[in-house]
Amino acid sequence: MSANTHETPLASSISRNLADLKMLEKATFPRPDSPVIMTFANQKGGVGKTTSAVNVAAGLAAAGLNVILIDIDPQGNASTAMGVEHHAGTPSTYEVLMDGLPISEVLQTCPDIEGLRVCPATLDLSGAEVELVDVNNREYLLERAIEQLLTEDKNIDYIIIDCPPSLGMLTLNAFVAAREVTIPIQAEYYALEGLSSLLRAIERIRNSLNPNLKVSGILVTMFDSRTNLSREVMGEVNTHFPKQLLKTPIPRSVRLSEAPSYSQTVITYDPRSIGAIAYRKVALEISQRFGGSSK
Ligand code: ATP
Ligand code: MG
Repeated sequence: MSANTHETPLASSISRNLADLKMLEKATFPRPDSPVIMTFANQKGGVGKTTSAVNVAAGLAAAGLNVILIDIDPQGNASTAMGVEHHAGTPSTYEVLMDGLPISEVLQTCPDIEGLRVCPATLDLSGAEVELVDVNNREYLLERAIEQLLTEDKNIDYIIIDCPPSLGMLTLNAFVAAREVTIPIQAEYYALEGLSSLLRAIERIRNSLNPNLKVSGILVTMFDSRTNLSREVMGEVNTHFPKQLLKTPIPRSVRLSEAPSYSQTVITYDPRSIGAIAYRKVALEISQRFGGSSK
C-alpha cells in the first residue's frame, strides 16, 4: 500500500499542485511554425471566455512565446485584466475596424508580462455593431487588420481574440479572421445548451466566409471536482468532442475572479494558485497541439 493512500484530500491536492508546478517549470512550450489565430467564443454570457482568453494568452507569453491579445468586446474586460489603458478615446479595436488604423499603432504591452501585447477595447466599440451596417466588406475588417499586422511583424506566435457574448458583427469578424475557435463551457446544468446553435453558426461561416475555421478546443470552466454535475459535463463533452476537449478543466477559484480587480492575469497575480496552474497547463496543451519544430 502506498503512503499516498493515507493522504487527506487536501494533502493530496497540495502534492498534485506541487507536481504540476514542477512539471510546468521544466516544460518547453513549443513555438508554432506559423502564427495561430484563435478566438474564444460562446454566445452565452459569463461562461469564462475572457478569463480563459486572458490567462491562456498570459500562460503562453509567460513561457516565452510572442502573443497578441485582441479585445473585440465593448465591455473591455480583457483590457482591464491586462492592465492596459482603455478609457473612451484610447486608440483601440474601434479605430482598427472603423478607421483602418493598423493594429501595430494601438498595441499596448501588458505591464507585467513581456511578450504579451494587447489591442484594447473601449466603450466606443459598443457603437460598432450598428455603425458597421453601412460599411463595405464589414465581415473582413479584422481579418485584413490581422493580415497587415502579420506582414509587419514576423515574430508573432499567437493571436488570441476575446469575443462578446453574442453572434453579432464583432464576433463574426473574429470568426472570419481566426482559424481556431476555443469554446469555454461552464460546468453547470444546461452546459451544452446553446452549443449546437454555436456549432451551426460556425459551420455556416465555414461554408461561406471562412473555410479554414474550425473548433479546435472546448474548455470546461468553473469545474468543481466535488460535484457529480461537473464530472458529468466533462464526460459528456468527452463523449461528443473527444479531440477538441482540453484535458485540464479550469476549477472554480476565487483568485481567478479577484485578479482582474488588480488589473492582472492570475498568472502574475498568484502564479501558484490552482487557477493559474490550470491555465498554464491548458496553455501548455494548446502549445503542444500547435507546436512545430523550434524556431
Ligand atoms: P461575458 O459573456 O460577459 O463576456 P465571459 O464569458 O467572458 O463573460 P468571464 O468574464 O471570464 O466570462 O467570467 C464571468 C465571471 O466569472 C467573472 O466575474 C469571472 O471573474 C468569473 N470566473 C470566470 N472563471 C472563473 C473560475 N474558474 N472560478 C471563479 N470565477 C470565475
Ligand atoms: Mg467576456
